[in-house]
Amino acid sequence: MIKANNLKKVYRVGELDLTVIDNLSISINEGEFISFIGPSGSGKSTVLNMLGCLDTPTFGDIEINSQDITKLNKTQLANFRGEHIGFIFQSFNLIPVLTVYENIEYPLIMIQNLAEEERKLRVEKLLKEVGMFEHKDKTPDKISGGQMQRVAIARALVTNPKIVFADEPTANLDSKTAHMIIELMKKIQKEHNTTFVFATHDEKIVENVDRLITLVDGNIVEDVYTKRGQHE
Ligand code: ATP
Ligand code: MG
Repeated sequence: MIKANNLKKVYRVGELDLTVIDNLSISINEGEFISFIGPSGSGKSTVLNMLGCLDTPTFGDIEINSQDITKLNKTQLANFRGEHIGFIFQSFNLIPVLTVYENIEYPLIMIQNLAEEERKLRVEKLLKEVGMFEHKDKTPDKISGGQMQRVAIARALVTNPKIVFADEPTANLDSKTAHMIIELMKKIQKEHNTTFVFATHDEKIVENVDRLITLVDGNIVEDVYTKRGQHE
């Protein structure tokens, strides 16, 4: 469902062109729980941002759900992302002046033109799924980091995306909270067959994925299905 061919990413740094990804190809299947790993600076976030329609490759093409997203203009790409993709960030990226409820509702207002009643149903269902219903009227400064990440997960899922990208989603959490967040994402993957694509240094995520892709200097040096992937 995700097919990237010969991706290249060049960043312009001052006078220099810095090639960080060169000739990377990958296919990711529906429902996979997959992670990119590799040293800091190896290009994990760069790849996730391109596959997740937050950034465009310098060269190469990316097909998501049979759509070549590299053919879309900026507005079309943003609309496509809104319809098909959820993104979870290391630093949660909640909007500080909105309540928990409003943060989750936000993509539905911005992207999908849903009736208020339907919006309410979706937001409340997710608030319950991530265990944040009783905190729905608080602003992000009144909840913990783990709770903020739960809200960010709900926000990523509220548009019913088939694919969720999560860049270091547990890096700012203590290990117990990180574990709960991973279990929550596994549960969601099972129930909705959502594809989860991580970039992480977290061993706990690594232990739980079906497939591990190791990047070194922007190249895939290993791509393996784990025991969990083979047995399920
Ligand atoms: P980390 O594990 O630290 O998150 P990463 O594997 O996600 O690292 P990237 O953030 O993708 O790595 O960075 C890959 C390379 O691209 C690095 O050398 C980085 O300095 C460079 N880079 C990333 N973003 C930019 C940018 N916007 N402009 C210039 N160079 C960049
Ligand atoms: Mg990164």
